[in-house]
Amino acid sequence: MTMLDSLRSIVQEVNSARDFAGVLQIIVKRVRKTTATGVCSIYLHDPVSQKYVLAATEGLNPEAVGNIQLASGEGLVGLVAAKAEPINLDNAEAHPNFAFFPESGEERFRSFLGAPVIHHRKVLGVLVVQQAESRRFDESEEAFLVTVSAQLAGVIAHASATGQLTQQFSPDIAKSGNERIFKGVGSVPGISIGTAVLVTSPADLYAVPHRPAENIEEELELFQTALEHTKRDLRAVHSDLSERLNMEERALFDVYVSMLDDNSLGGEVRILIKAGLSAQTAWSEVIIEHIRNFSSMEDAYLRERATDVRDLGRRVLGYLQQSQVQQKEYPPDTILIGEELAAPNLADVSVEKVVGMVSAKGSRNSHLAILGRAMGIPTVMGAIDLPWRELDNCPVIVDGHQGLIIANPSRQMLRTYKAQIQEEKILAEDLERLRDEPSLTSDNQPIALWVNTGLRLDSLLSLDRGADGVGLYRTEIPFFMHERFPSEDEQRKIYREQLEMFAPRPVTMRTLDIGGDKALPYFPIEEANPFLGWRGVRISLDHPEIFLVQLRAIMRASEGFDNLRILIPMISNIPELESALELVYRVYDELTEEEGYQLKRPEVGAMIEVPAAVYQVRDIAKRVDFLSVGSNDLTQYLLAVDRNNPRVADLYHTYHPALLQALKAIVDGAREENCPVSICGEMAGDPVSAVLLVGMGYRVLSMSATNLLRVKAILRKVTIEQAQKLALRAMELDDSSHVLEFLESAFTDPEITRLYSRSRAKSA
Ligand code: PEP
Ligand code: MG
Repeated sequence: MTMLDSLRSIVQEVNSARDFAGVLQIIVKRVRKTTATGVCSIYLHDPVSQKYVLAATEGLNPEAVGNIQLASGEGLVGLVAAKAEPINLDNAEAHPNFAFFPESGEERFRSFLGAPVIHHRKVLGVLVVQQAESRRFDESEEAFLVTVSAQLAGVIAHASATGQLTQQFSPDIAKSGNERIFKGVGSVPGISIGTAVLVTSPADLYAVPHRPAENIEEELELFQTALEHTKRDLRAVHSDLSERLNMEERALFDVYVSMLDDNSLGGEVRILIKAGLSAQTAWSEVIIEHIRNFSSMEDAYLRERATDVRDLGRRVLGYLQQSQVQQKEYPPDTILIGEELAAPNLADVSVEKVVGMVSAKGSRNSHLAILGRAMGIPTVMGAIDLPWRELDNCPVIVDGHQGLIIANPSRQMLRTYKAQIQEEKILAEDLERLRDEPSLTSDNQPIALWVNTGLRLDSLLSLDRGADGVGLYRTEIPFFMHERFPSEDEQRKIYREQLEMFAPRPVTMRTLDIGGDKALPYFPIEEANPFLGWRGVRISLDHPEIFLVQLRAIMRASEGFDNLRILIPMISNIPELESALELVYRVYDELTEEEGYQLKRPEVGAMIEVPAAVYQVRDIAKRVDFLSVGSNDLTQYLLAVDRNNPRVADLYHTYHPALLQALKAIVDGAREENCPVSICGEMAGDPVSAVLLVGMGYRVLSMSATNLLRVKAILRKVTIEQAQKLALRAMELDDSSHVLEFLESAFTDPEITRLYSRSRAKSA
């Protein structure tokens, strides 16, 4: 096997390991074998003792695990950690840092190669191989160890975040049901306290919660029935397909059936059930173990058999779960938790019982988050380190402002959050009074506060908050709700409802902005870099049949209302804009001149959300009726930070000086061309940013309805001159944290600070 093959199969095995201890064991075993050395060990950093502790070994005395501990800089292992680079020695004993641990039997090993395990710049551990004879490990061995370490880093970081690492060092801490905090991406603001209900895709072997059997006899019976059903299915498939299968393939089905027998998988599972595990848990554990064994086989044919075992595993699990579906109960404070919660999951749940949602995968713009926003359910997405499988039934707090999930919250934590909920309630009641007040600065300058919509529900909320208009209607949202592209008439009805709800106030309909992270289930796009790929107007221009239908539907929908504005997303060059405009005007001319519709010519605008458009803002402004800044995308493209990737979420700064300069350049450029400009990214709904934007010259802010009254409240407390001074000063600073500090110190009135104190940290 080549090193690359070994690496691949190690990674595969690691991925199918059931727990963290299993991961460590796989690594030491496999690395020792691949490098043909005497010893492979992993030392992990214990955050409590601040030492690197021997956590797994193949070759040293197993009793030494947990007992050999080295501080950073101490011994060779500590030296690797302190220097954060590999150390390769052919005579370890001669090195001044060599530390001797008799309990390890280490004196037999003269050669030493250690590589640090680094995640996000922190040394989490050290991976070591040792050899009895004196020899220098060659470059390829060193590179191999570094590669394995890099792969291990993510797994260790995950174990650390999920508490498995603590368990490794001091199991008692983990067992005492203590509080755990996990980080994700706050996707729908708000706080909820409730009980986690695990939502799993049916028959997902890796999502089965670890449950003991309540009644062993019943579990055995359940298992027997599931096996019988599966065998019956397999035989049925076998006879249905018998004419189309050759002998070997037919034999495969027989193998499947016999694998379920008592002397094979069936027997293994029964032993575990009798030992006290539920049928589902026992079955998934046995199957996962077998998948792992097959995946690590050197023979490609046998490796492929892992797929068969997985398939068989799913079939039986499906039957085991059937009996459970009807029993699933949703408490009145349900917090849905899952690996990849999706909108269809809501179909099985009584939505009125759901107070919060958490998904390990997905992003702020995922379909689920969009629905969560519409329903006002605090939601955290992208909680990649969440041990969702273990949280079923667990008390949980969801903090949708900061993107936190707190499992097993302490009394103190609960008190803090209950107080926050109470504060939010009081604030919401106070803000309610501003609903019918005009949106003016304290020196009576009007600032238009518009809303971003997409669903009927958020439009209703927007009207309730007294929005002055719609700055961004995301037409792709109703497209998500279909199973194919909606027809012209279906679209017209949806758009007309929106235009009618807000008339005579303006409604800005953005043409389809799919691609990036917004894939339509019926129009999948596979790309390596979707945000830099086929998105927004690029798709519309490549598919005029889709674009023209949409434009017709939008314009026909506006008949009699005269409040339509059309907005084109993702403009990155002039020819693109001109082609889109040409199609818009063509549709308008056809509808009015040829088909006799009585339509006011809609205003047409371009989104400024790609850095290229900032530099060409005047060229764009000359050609359109208005501009709208998409600061969400502008931030991600300007700073090269994926807006949905939780790993780089710390770098997504809407107070970044470069972004502030870009925003200023846009508003100045637009003014020089006498072109109205608004901003519809999330920052427009952040109260402090709103002041900054007004100070720069923005007079139309479009935001999600939930933030509207807060923004109105803060703007009513500042004059234009104060906002301008703040903006000027903020723009002289060279780092987002300085901007934030400066703004923090600028507002001292508690009536103002309470409007943003929770949302501020995440947008800095
Ligand atoms: C933006 O990019 O800022 C924007 C408003 O559009 P979306 O979030 O839909 O990409
Ligand atoms: Mg955008």
